[in-house]
Amino acid sequence: MYLCVFIYAMDKEQLIKALRHVFVSGTQGNIVDNGTLQNLQTVGEVVVVELLLYSPAMHIKKKAEVDILKAIHQYAAPKAKVKINIQVDVQEKPKTRDTKVPGVKNVIAIASGKGGVGKSTVAANIAIALAEMGFQIGLLDADIYGPSIPVMFDMESARPIAVHIDGKEKIRPVDNYGVKVLSLGFFAGANQAVVWRGPMATKALRQLIHDTHWGTLDFLIIDLPPGTGDIHLSLVQELPLTGAVIVSTPQKVALADARKAIAMFRLEAVKVPVLGLIENMAYFTPEELPNHKYYLFGKEGVQQLSTNLKIPFLGEIPIIQSIREAADVGRPAILQDNTPSAETFKYITRNTVNQLVSRNKELPPTEALRITTMAGCIAK
Ligand code: ADP
Repeated sequence: MYLCVFIYAMDKEQLIKALRHVFVSGTQGNIVDNGTLQNLQTVGEVVVVELLLYSPAMHIKKKAEVDILKAIHQYAAPKAKVKINIQVDVQEKPKTRDTKVPGVKNVIAIASGKGGVGKSTVAANIAIALAEMGFQIGLLDADIYGPSIPVMFDMESARPIAVHIDGKEKIRPVDNYGVKVLSLGFFAGANQAVVWRGPMATKALRQLIHDTHWGTLDFLIIDLPPGTGDIHLSLVQELPLTGAVIVSTPQKVALADARKAIAMFRLEAVKVPVLGLIENMAYFTPEELPNHKYYLFGKEGVQQLSTNLKIPFLGEIPIIQSIREAADVGRPAILQDNTPSAETFKYITRNTVNQLVSRNKELPPTEALRITTMAGCIAK
């Protein structure tokens, strides 16, 4: 009888459930869903828990150890011996993968179903956060409906120049804040981009991706246009994306469109892993009422979606006036050191890197698609 109870108690699912009761100071969400828990195994009678913490503070480590022990004993296995290994602040560089763009190791699409949910704001801040972490970063603004990255990077008048590399003429991206930026907005006639038909837009994007001298990049971040149409499919056809990150507000209509975007990436013929979901404009806290949260677009809709679809939740961003102002003056919020907005974007970026590291460990590189239309894709 004891043996049966013990085997049941060491069930991994049960242990994971137990660990969902553990929270680490300075992070959002429980240690299972926020990526702090790196590994969990049972070796004989011993539960081995591996954590990755970003704070070297001893009291945070100690509290995590005590809470993990308590949670396992209380919710899963009362008599288990527990061994906890904690790694601190190790920014593991993502494994390199071959993509079709020479020198580019990981290509991440930032996508949303609906427009105006903050996709470009998130792309800009994540790109700079990654550069600040020491990665080599490119950012391609592929939003044909409204390329807003030039404004966010204070580059409205920038015009990329051509360079000759190995006898070929290539576009040189424009550098700011440690990021190599290229946007449809840099080119004459970009205002007309919105009326481009699918093939024209795809051709322009193809050129921007392949005829650019990106140099060596750890990440190429692509700010996709909102939606799930042919242009998106053409893009995944052009690039073996390492993963996609979906941004949505908690509003019902935005969530419905986010679902469509997720479904597109999950199509059998596309199969780009969704690294996680970000809830933007999660709530509003007025300055004069710092303890109040007003859920203007609904409460925790994206978090619920991530639970329902079993996709990691990368974090929430409140509505903060300075995020909008920072974007408008061309100095994204991440650059305002030690502010809640900068910390939030850093936290979300670290979670994204963690998810990417796990994705690269588990899955083979994404194959580029060989089909061109949404209809073709579904029919497959
Ligand atoms: P999308 O790329 O999805 O169309 P944008 O990133 O252009 O959306 O954001 C739309 C508007 O909302 C911009 O004016 C931006 O500055 C603002 N915005 C985005 N996220 C936030 C936020 N968390 N708080 C305040 N304003 C935001």
